[in-house]
Amino acid sequence: MEEHFQLIVIGGGPGGYVAGIRAAQLGLKTAVIEKEKLYGGTCLRVGCIPSKAMLESSHRYEEAKDHLGQHGIKVGSVELDLPTMLARKDKVVNTLGTGVKGLLKKNKVARLKGHGRLDGPGRVVLLGPDGEKAYTYDHVIIATGSTERLLPFIEMDYDKVGTSTQALAYDSVPEHLVVIGAGVIGVELGSVWRRLGAKVTILEYMDRILPGMDNEIAAEAQKQFKQQGLVFHLGARVTGVRPEGEGCVVEIEGKEPIRCDKVLVSVGRVPNTENLGLESVGVQTNDRGQIIVDGRLATTAPNVYAIGDVVPGPMLAHKAEEEGIACVETIVTGTGHVNYDAIPNVVYTHPEIASVGKTEEELLESGTDFKKGVFNFAANGRAQAIAQAKGKVKVLADTRTDRVLGVHIVGPHAGDLIAEVAVAVEFSASSEDIARCVHAHPTLAEAIKEAALDANQRVIHS
Ligand code: FAD
Ligand code: NAD
Repeated sequence: MEEHFQLIVIGGGPGGYVAGIRAAQLGLKTAVIEKEKLYGGTCLRVGCIPSKAMLESSHRYEEAKDHLGQHGIKVGSVELDLPTMLARKDKVVNTLGTGVKGLLKKNKVARLKGHGRLDGPGRVVLLGPDGEKAYTYDHVIIATGSTERLLPFIEMDYDKVGTSTQALAYDSVPEHLVVIGAGVIGVELGSVWRRLGAKVTILEYMDRILPGMDNEIAAEAQKQFKQQGLVFHLGARVTGVRPEGEGCVVEIEGKEPIRCDKVLVSVGRVPNTENLGLESVGVQTNDRGQIIVDGRLATTAPNVYAIGDVVPGPMLAHKAEEEGIACVETIVTGTGHVNYDAIPNVVYTHPEIASVGKTEEELLESGTDFKKGVFNFAANGRAQAIAQAKGKVKVLADTRTDRVLGVHIVGPHAGDLIAEVAVAVEFSASSEDIARCVHAHPTLAEAIKEAALDANQRVIHS
């Protein structure tokens, strides 16, 4: 007799495991299938968490080496101990992975280990360590996430030429790292290895970095990255990578080839839909391979839902989590909701970059009548006190209603500052609402208040 679950989730990443916990809270007999040893998905194993651990460690190394002098702190020679740095990162990942497992256990969510596949309506087949086993379900959620997009003209050896997974674990600092793609991974991991001593060249085929981010903010970030030593080649179309001696040569259309010892290919990610049995139940995908879902996260097949990186939308862990919760609440209560206009986006470089809502370009393109307020961190007391006074906050609000439509920050702790604005956008706040809220002094958050004041022509400190 096949074991029956009210809900089976395929994929134990931030979308899947959070959905599993929420379902158990709501009383469903639930199982989460995961093929890897650690639950937590891309985000925990080879994404958000290890990259942030390396960003933090490399930042501290650079601070100690180059920036403590201005505070009147003299340090002796600062040495890099890369094995310890990598081991700390691995420990963080394992600690959190154990935590996720504990959460599933505490909530009595069954953990099924192996590769899950749909096998006709109401049935999932698990290929696990003990062979194949089938389960039946009332509802199933596909939360299989995404994997690196590769370029057909670049042969990967996952050593000299690899992806973010290898770049999170290089066992020595490359002399010259070439990054293909100036997206989020490119600037985050490019920053890590530059801080640790590598020459880093980032190749991007568009004429700007961080496509999708507000232009003005991305341009300011690029200026600061360049000052730090990152080298950008924009409008660079890579045509191939060939091995040469100990390293490789990156060929670029119409430009001089670049010699390097490591190449990081970071040109986006693609949804994981292979070998999932989608056709056995009639789940359809779009031309980008993403599973098509409606506003309830329901697929084209009855009782089959999909969330996270495998469906359209930003590929972010918190978006996957919110979809997991909304999807389960829809299944159980009939209603669930994700406000896609209030999803913050953070790049964890130094300076950090964070945004929520519409960019200036999107508002211009849609013909929205908007007003704009800008405040530079140079005029913020706390930013000066902590010696991080570069960057700015930009508030965009509807001219007629004053409703906040978008906020973009490049500067210190932008990723934490954006939380205030995400709440404001969620509550449909006006820029005047933000401007009239008391912000503690001296805090970086005062820069948001001042940008909101600026949108209303009454900025104080600039
Ligand atoms: P995933 O996390 O990909 O999880 C899917 C899980 O399903 C995986 O564990 C996989 O093993 C499993 N699986 C797949 N197919 C099957 C199957 N058939 N059977 C069983 N199991 C299966 N996002 C942020 O918000 N913040 C960040 O700072 C951030 N940093 C990142 C850094 C890097 C280097 C990378 C690569 C990504 C980063 N992301 C970040 C993106 C984030 O990791 C993803 O958006 C997020 O993990 C998506 O969650 P998910 O649950 O949809 O899928
Ligand atoms: P991305 O979509 O952010 O950037 C890819 C970049 O590669 C783009 O700038 C694109 O124009 C460029 N590109 C594409 N093809 C190219 C080519 N042939 N030659 C040169 N450039 C090319 O993708 P990513 O950086 O790989 O990150 C993948 C996903 O992971 C993103 O969607 C992101 O949301 C997520 N992520 C998020 C965070 C975060 O939230 N802090 C961190 C890392 C990754």
